[in-house]
Amino acid sequence: MRIHHLNCGTDCPLGGALFDGRSLSPLGRIVCHCLLIETDRHGLVLVDTGYGLNDVAHPHRRPDPRITLPWRAMLNIRLHERDTAIRQIEALGHKASDVRHIVATHLDFDHAGGLEDFPNAIVHVMRREYDDATGPHRGIVARNRWRRRQLDDVADWRTYGARGEGWFGFDAVRGLEGLPPEILMVPLPGHTWGHAGVAIDRGAAGWLLHAGDAYFYRGEMRGARRRCTPGLRAYQRLMEVDATSRLANQERLRALSVEQRGQVTVTCTHDPVELERCQAGTPL
Ligand SMILES: [Zn+2]
Repeated sequence: MRIHHLNCGTDCPLGGALFDGRSLSPLGRIVCHCLLIETDRHGLVLVDTGYGLNDVAHPHRRPDPRITLPWRAMLNIRLHERDTAIRQIEALGHKASDVRHIVATHLDFDHAGGLEDFPNAIVHVMRREYDDATGPHRGIVARNRWRRRQLDDVADWRTYGARGEGWFGFDAVRGLEGLPPEILMVPLPGHTWGHAGVAIDRGAAGWLLHAGDAYFYRGEMRGARRRCTPGLRAYQRLMEVDATSRLANQERLRALSVEQRGQVTVTCTHDPVELERCQAGTPL
């Protein structure tokens, strides 16, 4: 298996280093870190999709915009066709139809926007996430985070209940339909109830865990205690469905990242330094 680390969307929120911990300008930089996995027998597998072609072309078309104005303004989202997963996959010499599977950590608008760019793909997601994203939305955050227009043309969903098979002390969903056994989903509720990380067994290189939005900032992992910028603390609180389970899962992940340092590489969606280090082959 070969894994590419793609950035499929960039947000530049006002606040600079108060968000990303390093910007010198008033605007921060948040990425949408997706994985493209080249498998031997199962075609291309994407983990999350970031923003898609239709988000770039008409993000606000009424009456049901793909991205809502309050969230676009809050995050200062930069939409460019060249950043979409499909254009990056084509640049690597593949076709959209080569993507046979997409594993979604969850279905927030900044993760699910590109699903419809891969009409031949089976989309794997936790059942609770599918139900919450496509069902009635209660509250301002729910109405803005899950955007039906991004989801309604997906032809083939596969949904999973949280089953309790162990993976480094976490529950895991193994045996995703049609996918190689090296790819697991690891339920990590809190950001949403159906949120899950995706773990990939890279053999001698150890495991890679894409933890989605279970944490947002590199300082929240790999250290004796959690460090996070005020901007990302606030955004995580705004978007959580349950603080207790989010913080408990984050703490378990931090412990994993310390105790299994040699065996498991942990990365999240939105930290630009984690992405750069993964792309350079020298993960944090
Ligand atoms: Zn996100």
